Amino acid sequence: MPTRRTKRGELRTDLSGSYDVLICGASFAGLAVARELAGADRVDGSPARVLMLDRYEIGERQTSACGIPTGWLEALDLMGSHRQTFDELVVTTPYGTVRWPLPWTFSTFDYPELCALLFAQSDCEFETAKVEGRTGDTVHTDRGDLSAPLIVDALGWRRMLARKAGAFQPPDAPLSRGLEVHPGGSGDDLAIWIDREIVPAGYGWSFPAGEELRIGVGSFDPRFHVKDNTVKLAQDLGSEAVRYQGNWIPHKLRPAVEDGVFFAGDSAGHCLPLTAEGIRTALYFGIACGRELRQVVAGGVTRDQALQRYGAFSASHEWKYHWILRAQRAVPRIWPRVLHGVVGAMRHRQLVDWSFGHYLGIAPPEFVEPAPAPRARRSAGGRAAA
Ligand SMILES: Cc1cc2nc3c(=O)[nH]c(=O)nc-3n(C[C@H](O)[C@H](O)[C@H](O)COP(=O)(O)OP(=O)(O)OC[C@H]3O[C@@H](n4cnc5c(N)ncnc54)[C@H](O)[C@@H]3O)c2cc1C
Repeated sequence: MPTRRTKRGELRTDLSGSYDVLICGASFAGLAVARELAGADRVDGSPARVLMLDRYEIGERQTSACGIPTGWLEALDLMGSHRQTFDELVVTTPYGTVRWPLPWTFSTFDYPELCALLFAQSDCEFETAKVEGRTGDTVHTDRGDLSAPLIVDALGWRRMLARKAGAFQPPDAPLSRGLEVHPGGSGDDLAIWIDREIVPAGYGWSFPAGEELRIGVGSFDPRFHVKDNTVKLAQDLGSEAVRYQGNWIPHKLRPAVEDGVFFAGDSAGHCLPLTAEGIRTALYFGIACGRELRQVVAGGVTRDQALQRYGAFSASHEWKYHWILRAQRAVPRIWPRVLHGVVGAMRHRQLVDWSFGHYLGIAPPEFVEPAPAPRARRSAGGRAAA
């Protein structure tokens, strides 16, 4: 059981006030937005006031298997959280195992360490508070109301700050289901299983991360319950089904702006269909969003211009998401023996270079620019942080 570090009881004082930017959600997308706002000035040259909120302390609750192209860890100077690197993807179907030689490497990392490193690149204020909704420019939390002309929803798949909050729910919403366990142990292979015995539409995985394995099952069909098969996969791999982590995973792009709010990461459906890879895209769109906000704060563009530009930037990726979603829908319909043939063809370097090159190009690490220098952090309310 992780230790709860989130403020409780008397420490949970009332929160109120106006800010330049409110970033709701302090995981990958929210932290990337905050990084881009480090050292940001207002039009009058005074420091921008940026507040980030999350129901938990930063890094307290892991939200994924924490696998990412290594280039992203390097570009963001996050290798301090790195656990293991893989230059092959080992794919098993009922008809055999194939090793795909990746043109770029994939790595696993430690979630609390990555969040701490990314947070250190920002200078925003941070408070733990449960976001409960929004009216116009005011965000309602369990500790009080906060307002800002620039609001970011980086709260994950629920898209809490949308016009109609709570309307997006499984099983009708385009959401996949993912569950994993984190037993102790080690391994050398980044492995996935495409096997209808494990999940009719989806895949199982084992991601080694130093002294821990992350073994899980993801189903593109939200009605398919994955718990029993996650436990079975762990047991088949000789591991214990302990330390569960699961969530809904969006597999359809949604508008990245709505009703004056910026959405980044899972709240905008930025997680990629088929692979359910949503960390690098949350970072990528979070950076894009943060860059726009920085310009608004400095008076370079208006809020409406930034909404329009960021919305258009996100939407320009729509066709890529569309094609991957088509693949997600097609794969479970392919006869397993034929599918194994396709998996086998990916052994060939030219094919794997081409497909994985394009895949990385959807959100390439070259998009990252050196971090703007952060100022000394202030605690919420404007006091200098201890
Ligand atoms: C089992 C599983 C394994 C996965 N493995 C991988 C992987 O290996 N690689 C990969 O790229 N992707 C993976 N994904 C997908 C990835 O986790 C998401 O796409 C990614 O976390 C999205 O980042 P985000 O910042 O948008 O949202 P999240 O990481 O979900 O963060 C949302 C934040 O908002 C906070 N929050 C939520 N509601 C409230 C509220 N009401 N008030 C205040 N705070 C709130 C949460 O505490 C959290 O900190 C996995 C998903 C699952 C379910």
